[in-house]
Amino acid sequence: MPTAVAAARQILTSLHEVMASRSAAQAKLNTVVEVIGESLDSEVCSIYLLREGMLELFATRGLAQEAVHVTRMAIGEGLVGTIAGQIDTLNLAEAATHPDFSYRPETGEDKFHSFAGVPIVRREKAVGVLCVQHVEPRRYEEVEIEALQTVAMVLSELIANADLVDEDEAFGLSEAQTGPQQLKGLTLVKGLASGLAVYHQPRITIEHTMAEDIEAERQRVYLAFDRMREQIDHMAGQAEFGVGGEHEEVIETYRMFAYDEGWKRRINEAIDSGLTAEAAIERVQQRTRMRMRQIDDPLLADRMHDLEDLSNRLLRIVSGQLGTAASKGLRQDAILIAKNLGPAELLEYDKRRLKGVILEEGSLTAHVVIVARAMGVPVLGRVRSLRGVIREGDLLLLDADQGSVTVRPAPPMVEAFEARFAKSRERQAAYAALREAEPVTKCGARITVMINAGLREDMPNLSLTGADGIGLFRTEFQFLVSATLPSRERQTRLYREVMDSAGTKPVVFRTVDIGGDKALPYLRHDDGPGEENPAMGWRALRVALERDGLLKAQARALLEAAGGRTLNVMFPMVAEPWEFDAAKAVFDSQLAILRRNRKLLPETIRYGAMLEVPALAEMLDVMLPKLQFLSIGTNDLTQFLFAADRAHPKLAERYDWLSPAILRFLKRVVDACAAHGVDLAVCGEMGGRPLEALALLGLGIRRLSITPASVGPLKELIGKVDLAAIGPAVAGWLANPPVNLRAELSAWTAAHGIAFD
Ligand code: PEP
Ligand code: MG
Repeated sequence: MPTAVAAARQILTSLHEVMASRSAAQAKLNTVVEVIGESLDSEVCSIYLLREGMLELFATRGLAQEAVHVTRMAIGEGLVGTIAGQIDTLNLAEAATHPDFSYRPETGEDKFHSFAGVPIVRREKAVGVLCVQHVEPRRYEEVEIEALQTVAMVLSELIANADLVDEDEAFGLSEAQTGPQQLKGLTLVKGLASGLAVYHQPRITIEHTMAEDIEAERQRVYLAFDRMREQIDHMAGQAEFGVGGEHEEVIETYRMFAYDEGWKRRINEAIDSGLTAEAAIERVQQRTRMRMRQIDDPLLADRMHDLEDLSNRLLRIVSGQLGTAASKGLRQDAILIAKNLGPAELLEYDKRRLKGVILEEGSLTAHVVIVARAMGVPVLGRVRSLRGVIREGDLLLLDADQGSVTVRPAPPMVEAFEARFAKSRERQAAYAALREAEPVTKCGARITVMINAGLREDMPNLSLTGADGIGLFRTEFQFLVSATLPSRERQTRLYREVMDSAGTKPVVFRTVDIGGDKALPYLRHDDGPGEENPAMGWRALRVALERDGLLKAQARALLEAAGGRTLNVMFPMVAEPWEFDAAKAVFDSQLAILRRNRKLLPETIRYGAMLEVPALAEMLDVMLPKLQFLSIGTNDLTQFLFAADRAHPKLAERYDWLSPAILRFLKRVVDACAAHGVDLAVCGEMGGRPLEALALLGLGIRRLSITPASVGPLKELIGKVDLAAIGPAVAGWLANPPVNLRAELSAWTAAHGIAFD
C-alpha cells in the first residue's frame, strides 16, 4: 500500500502533464479521470461539476459514457449532492445503504457497491465532486481518501482556469450552502443597512496548487512559519493585544497552535505530495475543518476558529497578500466583517460605501464603536460563528435595531427589510425636522445639547442636527488617521477650519487622548515593558505631560487657531489637580511666546477638565476653583468605577449605566459643580441613550454632548420631560435604590407618557 503522500504525488505528477497540455478542458477532464482511476486502481472515477445550480457528470471512467452531461443532481440530492451540500467526504462500503443514495440507471452503476467521494472546493464552496467506485464492497483506506482530497484541490485550480464552472453561479446558487440564515448579536450602534459582505482580512484565493519545485515550496512554508511565530510572540508581548478583549489564555492557545510541530509536519507532507505552499496550508486546513465538523463541541469550535485565524495568517504571509479590504477599496455598498477593529482601521474605509459593521467581539464604548456611531454606521457586535455562515460577497441585511443580520436573504425578506428601512428613514427625516427646534423641557427649561466630533468630516453634523455646539472634539482622531505625527501646522489648520465651520457655536477641544484602544504605531512607550492594562496605563494627559513636545505643539496650534475668538480647551484623564496645573502651564508658556511674537491671541480661554478618573471626584473642592467647566466622560469613568474594561466583550452588558452606584456618584459631582458655579456637562455615550439621558436630567445635568444621531431623539425626549417630576423621582431611587433601576425608570416613562422607540 503506498503512503498517502506517495499516492497523491504520483497522481499529481501525471496531472501536471495533463494540465500543461494544450488540449481542451473536456479532453483534460477525460484524461484526469483515467489518470486517477488508474493510479488508485479504481474501476470507476467520475467528476461532477456545478452547472446551472446542478451537479453534472462531466467526465467518467467506468460509468456509461452516455451519462456524461446527462446525469445531474441537485445540491443535497443523492450521494454526490450530499457531498457538495455538506462539503464533506463520504466513504461507503455499500453505497445503496446510505439514506441519500439515489439510483441513476443511465450510468450503469448498479454493479458497483463501494463508493467514496470528496468535494472539489473553491473559495470555501463546493464547485464539484470527485468520486471513485468499486464492484467489491469495501471501505476505502485513509490513504486513498487523502489522495482523493489532494487531487480535488488541484482539480479546483484546473476547473477555475478552464472556466468549467461559472463561479458567480456556483457562489450564488446552491441552497444548502447558501440559503438564507439569521445570526444574532449585540446592538452596538443602532440602524439598518444592506450591503455585500466584505471581510476586513480577506480570504486568500489560491491560484496555483501544484508545486514546480517542492524544496522551494518547503522553504517558503518554513519562512512563513518563522514570521508567523515572530508575530504571535510579538503580539503576546504587546500591551495593545489585551485591549481587544482578548484574554491571556487566548494568546497562549494561539501560541500553542503556532508552535505545533504536528501542524507544520502535516503541511510539509502535503507539500511532499506535490502541492504548493498555499495549497498545502489550505489542504491541511480543509482536513481539520472536516474532522472538527464531526465533533459537536462549542469549546473545540472556538479553538477551530483560532486555528483558522492562524492558518489564514500563514496563508497571507506565504502568498504576500497582506493588505486589508480597505487597501483594495470598497466597490459596492458593503457590510464590513471583522473579529475586532481599531478606530483607525475603520476610518480607512470609504465612508460612502461602508454601510455597516459586524464584529465577532466589540462593546458599546470601544472607540471603534464610538467612531462608527459618529459616522452613522450601524454596528452589530458579538456575533458568534459568523465565519462558517457568511461568505465574502454574500448579501446581508443588517438590522442592528433588533440585533440581527440576515445572510443571503430570500427576495420577500429583502422586500420586508426595504419597507422597514424606508420607515426608519422617515423617522430619521422626522428627527431632522427637529433641527430648528430648541431643546426645551415641558416645564420650560432650556437644555444644552451638543455633539461629539473628531474629524473635519463631522462638522456638517452641527448644522444638520441644529446642536448647540461641539461639547467634545476628540483631537486624537487626526492623529489616528495619520500615518505620522501631524505637524503643528496641520493641527492649526484643522482647528481653525473646525472653529470656522462652527461659526458662533462653541467647540470644546480636548487635548490628545492617545493610548488605551487608541494606540498609535508611531508613538510608543518604548522605554518600559508592555502594558498589562493600557486603559489604565500610559495614555491621555499622562502621555502629553511626559512627551511635553506633543502638548506644546498642540497648545500652540489651538491658541493660534483661536486667535481673536474664544478657545475652549479641556484635558482628558485628569486624576489629580496638579496634572491640570501642569497642562495649563504648558498653554500659559505657549501663550507667552505668542504674545512676545505679537500674534493674534484668543479673546478668551476657557479651561476645563474631564472627570473620568474617580479619584478626581474626591478633589473637587481643590479642582473646581481652577476651572471654567467640567465634563464627565462616562465611558471611562464607569469602567473605572466598576473595574470593568470598557472594551471587554464579556463585560459589555454586565454593568448598567443606570446603576444606583453610578447615579449617586454623578449626583455628588452635580452638587459640587453647582456649589462652585462651574458649568457641568456629560460627554460620554451614556448621554446619547434616552433612558440614561432622562436619568441625567433627573440628576440636574443640563448640558449633554452626544453622538449626532442621538440629537433628534433627545430633543424629542426633552420636549416631553417635566424636570419637577423626574428630579424627585431620581432622588427617591437614589435614596432607596430599587433592585432594577432601569426597569423602574422605564415604567416611570410609560406612566408619564414618554414613549421611546
Ligand atoms: C469618555 O471617556 O467618556 C469620553 C468621552 O472619552 P473617550 O470615549 O474618548 O475616552
Ligand atoms: Mg475617556
